[in-house]
Amino acid sequence: MQSIVTCQSVSKVYGEGELQVHAVNNLSLNIHRGEFISLSGPSGSGKTTLLNMIGGLDNLSAGEIIVDGRKISQMTKSELAEMRLHHIGFVFQSYNLIPVLSAYENIEFIMQLQGIHADERRQRADAILKEVGLAGMGERRPAQLSGGQQQRVAVARAMVSKPSIILADEPTANLDSHTSDELLDLMQHLNKEHHTTFIVATHDPKVIEFTRRRIHMRDGKIILDEVADAL
Ligand code: ADP
Ligand code: MG
Repeated sequence: MQSIVTCQSVSKVYGEGELQVHAVNNLSLNIHRGEFISLSGPSGSGKTTLLNMIGGLDNLSAGEIIVDGRKISQMTKSELAEMRLHHIGFVFQSYNLIPVLSAYENIEFIMQLQGIHADERRQRADAILKEVGLAGMGERRPAQLSGGQQQRVAVARAMVSKPSIILADEPTANLDSHTSDELLDLMQHLNKEHHTTFIVATHDPKVIEFTRRRIHMRDGKIILDEVADAL
């Protein structure tokens, strides 16, 4: 199987001296294309820090991360931005949609940055809105959508550029359990259909149960990395 993310002895230290926090501590990890992974662990265990480093949003204190064959420590700022734009989709707990833009425009925005032509943008946005179950709702602004619908828009936005990896940080934290189930079904569908790799940081037991590979963290380290065979 092909590696899509490799973390080699990765550390992230915040602060200095007495106040130093080893948010991620000498962590190594290999992720294959198409995996659907949960990253769980108590609050403060380093999940967000790890996702941010994989996504090039935060730099490493030590070690190396290789994304899609490229060492992120060797990328310039603009190469990192390019990687985020074309290869990685982000989904956050708080949806992070732009409030003044419609669902359609929120999705289209990324494609605009990528320089995709208006006709194709419209076509792709329509297709992805349909795929996430929001056909006909493209003109609504975030405030006119439920939490679950907003998170679907966020997933659609993350998916529309056809990234090889989606990093989701506590995506169900603000959703009720029925809506969480729907979101998980959607992510699983996208994982199967498009072979997109999902890495989902969560402490929601339902999300963990749903994923095939379950990585548990504590104090910046991996304490368990298991593959559920029933799924
Ligand atoms: P999790 O997502 O698992 O809750 P985090 O990655 O957010 O964990 O945090 C890991 C540790 O790093 C925590 O002790 C947290 O307080 C610390 N930390 C995270 N971000 C910062 C920051 N920007 N400055 C200082 N400490 C931080
Ligand atoms: Mg976190």
